[in-house]
Amino acid sequence: MGLEEDTHVDANQRTERLIQAATRAGGKTYEFDNDHDPNLPIGCFFQRSPEGLVLFVLFYTQACRWSRCKFCTLPSTSSLRHVGYKAIMAQIDHVFAQPDVAGKLGEIRKVILSNQGSMLDELTFSSTALMYLVARCNLLLPNLEVLTLETRVDYVDDAELEFLARAIAEGDTPTVLEIAVGFEAFNERVRNRDLLKGLALAKFEQLVARSTAKGFRVKGYFLQKSIADMDDDEAVRDVQAAIEYLADLQRTVPDARLNLHLNPTYAARGTTLEQELKRGTWTPPRLVDTARAVLHGKGRDLPIFVGLSDEGLAVEGGSFVRPGDEPLVDALEAFNRTQDYGPLEEAFLKAISPD
Ligand code: SF4
Repeated sequence: MGLEEDTHVDANQRTERLIQAATRAGGKTYEFDNDHDPNLPIGCFFQRSPEGLVLFVLFYTQACRWSRCKFCTLPSTSSLRHVGYKAIMAQIDHVFAQPDVAGKLGEIRKVILSNQGSMLDELTFSSTALMYLVARCNLLLPNLEVLTLETRVDYVDDAELEFLARAIAEGDTPTVLEIAVGFEAFNERVRNRDLLKGLALAKFEQLVARSTAKGFRVKGYFLQKSIADMDDDEAVRDVQAAIEYLADLQRTVPDARLNLHLNPTYAARGTTLEQELKRGTWTPPRLVDTARAVLHGKGRDLPIFVGLSDEGLAVEGGSFVRPGDEPLVDALEAFNRTQDYGPLEEAFLKAISPD
């Protein structure tokens, strides 16, 4: 083994140790999925949004290097070991060769890319594979309007933004890049002390300024009721504060284009919330409160999208969708597509006073 390979092995082992230490710091007990075929992504699926057909791709890579956020089990679907660029490129080929994807290439308006961590962390998602991915999107998706990359703010560097801006501009249609950042809670204490998110508002605001200067959009991901120490009303107020914050920031930064993605929290296996659920000290948020929180966006010119899937990770009794919630699920799904507050308001009023 040469000196260069030795250095790679050392760096990979350091990263593995760092991920394991961060997982322990977050009090998490899950195992990593080291047996997954590295040439296959975790999965991909379609969604509908105001932009049209959305392809969501989850790549299988080394786990998130931050890994400590208390509520999050996404790294359990990743590898503890490094996944090299050739395997990730094979995953990209696999996605575009799927018959349901291959049959809809011309329809896809938006692609959301995740590796259950940070797409812009070059230690877990190789730069070669990222270049290949943008090239495949340019070649295969003639009507792509938005390319979304999920990442922590820490891994976004200007050289990368510059390169991505130039590369996606070479596609057949104008495509906007969207940087999607996990915020989870607006309350600073909850976000950084309770959830260990490690995100300061100042860092996020710098990202908005840098991204806007390049013509990119920024999405903030929020969770509703992510800790036991928050009742249903506090959880609604936290989401409402997030809506106000992003809407105000959008008004303050000239040309900024922001949007908010809200995920009602579910209890996932191997997290502290699973233990809280078993102890009876936490219950999932009510969908009627999700609707109440979203309605706060009316008139604020901030697109809001509600995640209604528990990604199959919720433990029994840990999901936010309960029997009888179907009309609200339908109304929120319709709202995701249309951003029309009228029908959502109607469904909400019906849910709070069914007679
Ligand atoms: S929420 Fe994001 S940054 Fe935090 S551990 Fe999960 S994947 Fe990593």
